[in-house]
Amino acid sequence: IVEVRDLHKSFGALRVLKGIDMSVRKGEVVCVIGPSGSGKSTLLRCVNLLEEPNSGTVVVNGYELTDPDIDIDRARRGIGMVFQGFNLFGHLSVLENLTVAQRKVLKRDRAEADRIARENLAKVGLAEKERSMPAQLSGGQQQRVAIARALSMDPAVMLFDEPTSALDPELVGDVLAVMRQLAEEGMTMLVVTHEMQFAREVADKVLFMDDGIVVEQGPPAQVIGEPRQERTRSFLARVL
Ligand code: ATP
Ligand code: MG
Repeated sequence: IVEVRDLHKSFGALRVLKGIDMSVRKGEVVCVIGPSGSGKSTLLRCVNLLEEPNSGTVVVNGYELTDPDIDIDRARRGIGMVFQGFNLFGHLSVLENLTVAQRKVLKRDRAEADRIARENLAKVGLAEKERSMPAQLSGGQQQRVAIARALSMDPAVMLFDEPTSALDPELVGDVLAVMRQLAEEGMTMLVVTHEMQFAREVADKVLFMDDGIVVEQGPPAQVIGEPRQERTRSFLARVL
């Protein structure tokens, strides 16, 4: 569903991505790990066209995002994204947060949008919070609302950029549990994370990035369990 070939991205003279090749197949969970500044977020942002690549190709859900003639809004529709910050609309209730884009972008009527929103709130364990305002929720609850909101758009793939790294430690588990459940239901997921335990247990494939390249990739038992590259070993020694 996601196919990245020879992707390069620079900010001015700073070369951030130096030829990334990677893919996520339908139903797969791919975790991206690596040190700060290695380009993980930039990779995700190129997959969602929040950044424009300098060269290379990015195909998501059948849309070639790097084609200059592409309908970006349509292509983005199949991509759900959850960031580190929660990015909920602060002036809207939880339920409204889940329904605005469904109604505006997918043209669903109120009843259907509400029904789908409630289904997804129940899935993340927050059915009773639909009338709450974001500020009344804990960080972990807000992040679960953000996941439910993305799911309400029927994404073909979900991108997560360190969804738990801004959370108090006791709230991390609930969010990871929701992500784990999504993975078990077969959702296609590309996840940047520092949670090695999650990567080890949930990922089908782990990519280790350093300095703008994919240093090694493979099943978690190999990349995290028996890394082949010295750079991967020294990174893991620091984080595990
Ligand atoms: P972290 O683990 O800290 O989130 P990361 O692997 O996600 O790091 P990126 O956010 O992709 O790293 O950043 C890679 C490099 O690109 C960094 O040196 C960063 O300063 C630079 N960078 C990212 N976005 C921009 C931008 N919009 N303009 C200029 N430089 C940028
Ligand atoms: Mg980042």
